[in-house]
Amino acid sequence: MTAAPPRKRLHSATRLLHAGAPALRDGAGPVNVPVVRTSTVRFENTAAQADHHHRRTAGERVASYGRHGLDTHRALEDAVVGLEGGHRAFLTPSGLSAITLVLLALLSPGDHALVADGVYAPLRRVDSTLLQRLGITVEYFSPTHDDLASRLRPNTRLLYLESPSSLLYEVLDVPALSAVARDRGVTVATDNTWSGGWFHQPLALGANISIQAATKYISGHSDLMQGIVVVDSPALAAKLSTAYEALGLTIGADDAYLALRGLRTLPVRLAQHQRNATAVAEFLQQQPQVSRVFYPALPTDPGHALWKRDFNGASGLVSFEFRHATPAAANAFVDALRLFGIGASWGGYESLALAAQPERLREHRQWTGDAPVVRLHIGLEDPRDLIADLAQAFADAAPAL
Ligand SMILES: *Cc1c(COP(=O)(O)O)cnc(C)c1O
Repeated sequence: MTAAPPRKRLHSATRLLHAGAPALRDGAGPVNVPVVRTSTVRFENTAAQADHHHRRTAGERVASYGRHGLDTHRALEDAVVGLEGGHRAFLTPSGLSAITLVLLALLSPGDHALVADGVYAPLRRVDSTLLQRLGITVEYFSPTHDDLASRLRPNTRLLYLESPSSLLYEVLDVPALSAVARDRGVTVATDNTWSGGWFHQPLALGANISIQAATKYISGHSDLMQGIVVVDSPALAAKLSTAYEALGLTIGADDAYLALRGLRTLPVRLAQHQRNATAVAEFLQQQPQVSRVFYPALPTDPGHALWKRDFNGASGLVSFEFRHATPAAANAFVDALRLFGIGASWGGYESLALAAQPERLREHRQWTGDAPVVRLHIGLEDPRDLIADLAQAFADAAPAL
């Protein structure tokens, strides 16, 4: 057998498939990383235990206790660092805990953080319940309407973005915003859940930290809760590591395994989500009851040019605004869907519908309408069946729309 080519010459889909593959022993071995479940790590002698402890405290990723995670965790971390192109990854029990970890790791009493107004809404609860109590000021701003430079204060420590935004999928100019913040020594974090890390690499565009809810596309099967934080430097890794350990964060090896399994098929799943979602978005655009479709891959979307520049594809999330419907009529439309499940979350193989809450929409400066919005996650079903289901729901709810 010829030697494998150097890793960096391989394309990213190939690297994702082989990341963390276990070495063969005695000439053979499994394809997949074993699930190494443990609480206790055993040592040969006290010197080995002390050596592990010292290496860990010096920043090396060796485990001296189960909470630090063993081989399965390492393999997932390596694969995600390869995907996002960063320095080090941290695995957390949910996407929200990944967000909270970043906020607590980087912000101290008296600090100020600027947060894009279209972020995943529960971040605002972290602010109102925890950060305010710690004397940390969070200011929400519109990255497309407000001038970032004039919002930065001497005590601003963090710029927090999400592109595209939740619900309305507003694409942000991550390179330009990051450049302004970094010029002033402000760390830039961005939520990259929408792209799964496959269609968008914010660390290459100037952000310092990429956050994902692995619950969504990395898992891909609606059977896992998990968050991932990837940082771009050893200095940030040290800060994150301190908070991560203090909070006692960890994930189970079975969950690390599931995320790694999901990662192997991320590119093929996302390509199909994009095909199906594009077909649905084009269908929605033609419906007389619909006034706007929010999907950056549509040439008519206001974020289309930025999306084309900074993304390699679009996910399965499509929102649309009704032209006249009341909230009750929008709910009747959602209730008339048969194939779409009704629920929050997304990123699994199945299609979902969610009537957006008006108070969530009003948090976005971008939102100027007052008609109801429905958020769809377009799954991997045959798109003809999805379109037929939407068509029958439009017909069924027609008198109210
Ligand atoms: C779902 C989601 C999260 C939170 O992830 P959980 O695992 O549900 O806690 C964070 N950011 C975005 C953009 C999300 O859609």
